[in-house]
Amino acid sequence: MRRILIAGNWKMNVIDNINPVIDSSMKNDVDVLIMPPFIYLERFNTAIKGSRVKLGAQNMSSQEKGAFTGEISPLFLKEFGIEYVAIGHSERRHIFKETDEEISLKMQKAIDLNLKPILCVGETESQRSINKHKFVVENQLKIALGGIENNLKNIIIAYEPVWAIGTGNTATPNDAEEMHLFIREQISFIFGRNVSSEMTLLYGGSVTEENVKDLLRKDNIDGVLVGGSSLKGDKFAKIIEIAGKTNI
Ligand code: PEP
Repeated sequence: MRRILIAGNWKMNVIDNINPVIDSSMKNDVDVLIMPPFIYLERFNTAIKGSRVKLGAQNMSSQEKGAFTGEISPLFLKEFGIEYVAIGHSERRHIFKETDEEISLKMQKAIDLNLKPILCVGETESQRSINKHKFVVENQLKIALGGIENNLKNIIIAYEPVWAIGTGNTATPNDAEEMHLFIREQISFIFGRNVSSEMTLLYGGSVTEENVKDLLRKDNIDGVLVGGSSLKGDKFAKIIEIAGKTNI
């Protein structure tokens, strides 16, 4: 049985008020995750203590230590009790030119260290316009997941079409579900049906309190990755509340 996961990616921002999120996570039977900037991880780790909110990082290095100025080791995440880490977010891929190969190294490292990686995949608008969206996502999955053999239960996939991130252009629930079903089939080819049917698949891209219900009603959408709408505590709390009701 897959549980609903509501994850907030704060990018290079900090939430205005975490308290409504903590309250909402207590009242609603869904998993809640926040991903603050690295430097705020410790502060929010303290803030969420005793609540059901979990903590994740937005990125990590594929290397454990060494001369990598400005990078964050996955061992540091472990040391601070961080369970989750986003890998291959579209802003990392497109702005910071992270390659599929680098993302694959990060996935392998996260899995080896028993972290829970949220692998982000998704096509650009021009790739969708020439009907290559499934091909692109299939390729991203194959490269990022190839060679991984253990801790498969830790893997979460977030489908985040690039054209939907921060644009207000949410994918329709049907289009998102079509891709999620496709992703589940691909996971089944890579890891087998049992792993695939248990894997949590998130949708991300302009999720709001207005559209979250219809997205979560779809069979293969197990949660959402929320950027902009996770920065206002009361809005994010509302999304958690709506997800809690959808769960019943
Ligand atoms: C994201 O940052 O992963 C994201 C989906 O952002 P937004 O919700 O703002 O589109």
